[in-house]
Amino acid sequence: MNSNEPGQPVPEATAITSRNLPTPRIALAIGAHPDDVEFGCGATLAKWAAAGCVVHHLVCTDGSKGTWDPHADTPALAARRQVEQREAARRLAGARAGEVVFLGYVDGELGSDLEARGRVALAIRRLRPDVVLGHDPWKRYRLHPDHRHAGLLTCDGIVAARDPHFFPDQGIAHHRPEHLLLFEADAPDHLEEVDGWIDHKLAALEAHESQFESTMKAIDESQLDSFRARIRGRLTGLGVDHGVGAAEVFKLISDL
Ligand SMILES: [Zn+2]
Repeated sequence: MNSNEPGQPVPEATAITSRNLPTPRIALAIGAHPDDVEFGCGATLAKWAAAGCVVHHLVCTDGSKGTWDPHADTPALAARRQVEQREAARRLAGARAGEVVFLGYVDGELGSDLEARGRVALAIRRLRPDVVLGHDPWKRYRLHPDHRHAGLLTCDGIVAARDPHFFPDQGIAHHRPEHLLLFEADAPDHLEEVDGWIDHKLAALEAHESQFESTMKAIDESQLDSFRARIRGRLTGLGVDHGVGAAEVFKLISDL
């Protein structure tokens, strides 16, 4: 996540117009950094995996700036974060954990140019998800450029993947997902009930041990308990607002 633990905005109760997509056969979650997917949609992915969905991850950057230590060995950090991301994916989805794809762009330097768009489109064409999840690139006042660009790559990658005339040299069939769910959404309108899945989200988040200090502000057990309480409070708070036990909320875009 890189230094700012994301919050889920609490939407107006009337803003939510749909709930609980049918469990997809295949989901692809796209994040800027290792851990973004777990923050954004971890409980939803755990719920779907338990119902048979194969959950793939795509991480755009190497996470090499995810530390406050000015003397950190950043190549070693990037390698460690790949290990942590694979473990997080396993904790979320268990036997239904699919691929974890790392695009490997330098943390903080992600763009949304044609080359990167082509790589995201290729992953969508190859993995063939029914549902794609990613950052909302239109979230107002979002500071971190990687989150904006990862969101744009998610949207633009879907457009490119669905049309056979985009990147024809990829030599792979085009693919049109059914739904796009944007997390950290500026104007959420869709809710996934995740009562019973918060522990899976927390377990996956806690696989990212290198981020305990900088993102989760949890360098001892007491602070880790506070982090768990914050995450649990956000999801149950959203649930209370909408008459369920716990929720993650998204902007839903269908008819892709
Ligand atoms: Zn991030």
